[in-house]
Amino acid sequence: MPVTALSIPTESLKKTGLKLTKTIHYQLSPEELVQDTLRLGEGILSDSGALVIQTGEFTGRSPKDKFTLKDESTSEHIHWNEFNIPIDEKKFEIIRKKAIDYFEKLPEVWIRDCYACADLRFRLNIRVINEKPWSNLFAYNMFLRPKENELVADSFGESFLPDWQILACPGLLLDAKECGTRQHNASVVSFKHKMIIVAGSGYTGEMKKGIFTILNYILPQEKNVLSMHCSANMSDNGDTAIFFGLSGTGKTTLSADPNRKLIGDDEHAWTHDNIFNFEGGCYAKTINLTEEKEPEIFHAIKPGALVENTNFFPDTNKINFEDASVTENTRVSYPLHFINNAQEPSIGGLPKNIFFLTCDAFGVLPPISKLTTGQAMYQFISGYTAKVAGTETGVTEPKPTFSACFGAPFLPLHPGKYAHMLGKKIREHKVNVWLINTGWTGGAYGTGNRMKLSFTRAMITAALNDELNKVSFETHPVFGMAMPKTCPGVPAEILNPRNTWADKTAYDQKAKYLAELFIKNFEKYAGGASEETAAAAPKI
Ligand code: ATP
Ligand code: MN
Repeated sequence: MPVTALSIPTESLKKTGLKLTKTIHYQLSPEELVQDTLRLGEGILSDSGALVIQTGEFTGRSPKDKFTLKDESTSEHIHWNEFNIPIDEKKFEIIRKKAIDYFEKLPEVWIRDCYACADLRFRLNIRVINEKPWSNLFAYNMFLRPKENELVADSFGESFLPDWQILACPGLLLDAKECGTRQHNASVVSFKHKMIIVAGSGYTGEMKKGIFTILNYILPQEKNVLSMHCSANMSDNGDTAIFFGLSGTGKTTLSADPNRKLIGDDEHAWTHDNIFNFEGGCYAKTINLTEEKEPEIFHAIKPGALVENTNFFPDTNKINFEDASVTENTRVSYPLHFINNAQEPSIGGLPKNIFFLTCDAFGVLPPISKLTTGQAMYQFISGYTAKVAGTETGVTEPKPTFSACFGAPFLPLHPGKYAHMLGKKIREHKVNVWLINTGWTGGAYGTGNRMKLSFTRAMITAALNDELNKVSFETHPVFGMAMPKTCPGVPAEILNPRNTWADKTAYDQKAKYLAELFIKNFEKYAGGASEETAAAAPKI
């Protein structure tokens, strides 16, 4: 296909403050970005043709270094907490100026215009300005890709005007004292400048979660639309399922289902008439990836895909997916259409089923259970998982985590806002809500094992096919959820977690311990929660 050279959008770039004296690579194709990365010696092609790069010092997000500009317009709306750390205007200006000056000195810069939000009613124009060509390839893979004619300037001027801009400069190391940051790296969000600056970190996920963060503000606050940290897929009949869960719980893995169309793997909104994806790609974990267990993701690792922080088998270009020597959080990004049955555009009908995914390292929670609306709200506000070595820098041991709405690090507003909107929708649309434990069975981490992926898939399929309407349930004595006694494709003895533990007393003790953690965590929300939600707390 012939490619007409798009002209560089000089006017709108000038407004950003960028002087345009250097080489600007605007809107390059994935092939060109791969070539540029190879030319700079910053990547190697794998045997399947994917580009393999190292993100450098940071191989995961750095939530302690994420700042939000606190000014008149944001100060009273943002829920200032450990994830929404304020930075003042003076410091922001210092960082912004440093970023602009830094780009000025680079010999080449890669710029890409793209979109977020598959639903045109909510579309956001994004301009990504990158120090690295592979970082720009990530933006191509993960955001929505404009058609060329949507970018061509006409006699009225430039046709694409960015609503938001990302400036990503991993090589810019900040002086913490001067910039008001914690250390030399920072992700800084300004709603006033409509700008996200990622300095000092090459971890590509900072860009996507930056855009997610701002949409978690704009959509609920300004458009009355619920934004969610979830994956989504749908059947041929158009019934949609959404999967909430913290990092590593299975959103990406379980939404890739050969029998259903993939809407998206991480970030969605629920409007009055649909579900839509914010993104145009997937960002899948590759640790221990096998063709047999996760064929869709495995086959997406082809030319155009960007693989991060893996190593090859010695003297080959074959990726060793078991190698965690750089990080446990090895990843691949690819455009959605690399998955065979991706829904295009990524919009689905109203959800019929909601799955809350948790990876319970204590092995206490049942592998599948049905929640009442009160229990659903309780679980949503709690947002429990046990983090296993993963996405965040420094996490190598499993530990219990409670993260409101299964996404506290990305939520600028009070969690009660999202919970209230979700609760209303669950009631209004009579949605089935399921809790899925993709974590441990047969004992806690160390004794038991992680639930077999094929069993988790079978449980979800049974729920989606209404097969669990026909079976009988029993109630969990502590947590109160309804556990099916049988499920097609799954051995009945694993459905009640207590049965899988050799030592029943040990199970009861762990269940009590976990219940206490839930109760303690919920204390801070008790004042704002409804009676129905509060009544769904575990009983010790
Ligand atoms: P993130 O928000 O960081 O993208 P995620 O929720 O998308 O996280 P996945 O990328 O799907 O999480 O990670 C789940 C990981 O757990 C995968 O590596 C998958 O192979 C592994 N896994 C093992 N057993 C199971 C199971 N029973 N169910 C789901 N995933 C499992
Ligand atoms: Mn994911």
